[in-house]
Amino acid sequence: MNQVYDIAIIGGGPAGLSAAVTARIRNKSTILFEHGGHSEKLRKAPEVDNYLGIPNVTGVQLMEQFVKHCMRLNPTIVKEKVTSIYPDEMNTIVTSANTYQARSVIIATGVISTALLRGEKNLLGKGISYCATCDGMFFKNKPVAVVSYTKEGEKEANFLAEICQKVYYLPQYKDAPEGLHPDIEVIKEKPLAVEGDDVVQGLLIKDRELAVKGIFMLRQSDPVENLLAGLELDGEVIKVNRCMATNIPGIFAAGDCTGRPWQIAKAVGEGLTAAIHAVQYIDNKSVACYR
Ligand SMILES: Cc1cc2nc3c(=O)[nH]c(=O)nc-3n(C[C@H](O)[C@H](O)[C@H](O)COP(=O)(O)OP(=O)(O)OC[C@H]3O[C@@H](n4cnc5c(N)ncnc54)[C@H](O)[C@@H]3O)c2cc1C
Repeated sequence: MNQVYDIAIIGGGPAGLSAAVTARIRNKSTILFEHGGHSEKLRKAPEVDNYLGIPNVTGVQLMEQFVKHCMRLNPTIVKEKVTSIYPDEMNTIVTSANTYQARSVIIATGVISTALLRGEKNLLGKGISYCATCDGMFFKNKPVAVVSYTKEGEKEANFLAEICQKVYYLPQYKDAPEGLHPDIEVIKEKPLAVEGDDVVQGLLIKDRELAVKGIFMLRQSDPVENLLAGLELDGEVIKVNRCMATNIPGIFAAGDCTGRPWQIAKAVGEGLTAAIHAVQYIDNKSVACYR
């Protein structure tokens, strides 16, 4: 049987790593999921000068220190993207490759840094997907588009090329795609809107519409409500109390995903707070931190 972890942390940016440090110091078995390179966002910062005690560093230098510190405490790190969380006494965490279980979950997925496309939200599950491995078979023998903001999308597009009639790949990052399946058509334009009333009928780009039945939007972070049904939001961000508890018992959130200010110190503080209360939740379910 799979191991049941005390605390599962979704996201390995400043908030998630800080939560992992505290969870490990409190001697809880901890699994942290990070599908990118530990905060691509912060790694883009040319200079960080407002993190107390560590002035005048680049985002990369600071993230490397955070990762190194966290690794000393030996959390289990899983380089997979979490696609769903099913909350219960024992929470189930589903990635594109596996299923895991944990007594408590801390969501630290950051925020989406690109706006949703026009039409995207309404057609979620009706042709819009955030995970090729999970949903690819629904589009077997159909034309699809993959809009990817990370290089990871290349693998997903290759997988789709094996089963779909046609794959358009729209890389929205700097580097040229490598090792793509020869049948994939690369389009170096920005997507403008999703077409279709009840189901996806196409993807609008600058001068034409791609007639596709499925669109895979692969960002660093997805809209958080897709991870966990019933999670209460405050606008676009997760609603939490001062313990970083969400409306669902045993599910906590920390960092940019709970709202502004979008700053490292706030993310790190919230990660610690979430972990302390996740520990209390596990040890004593009567903790006064339910919302
Ligand atoms: C250019 C730039 C400069 C900045 N400069 C500063 C500065 O000088 N000072 C400052 O205080 N702040 C700065 N910030 C803001 C700072 O980077 C953020 O506030 C901070 O990174 C938030 O941390 P976080 O852990 O909440 O989210 P993130 O850093 O966004 O980390 C979230 C992590 O979760 C992972 N993830 C998301 N979804 C999933 C999933 N489903 N499964 C698995 N993993 C997932 C992502 O890969 C990512 O690594 C800057 C931001 C940018 C973009």
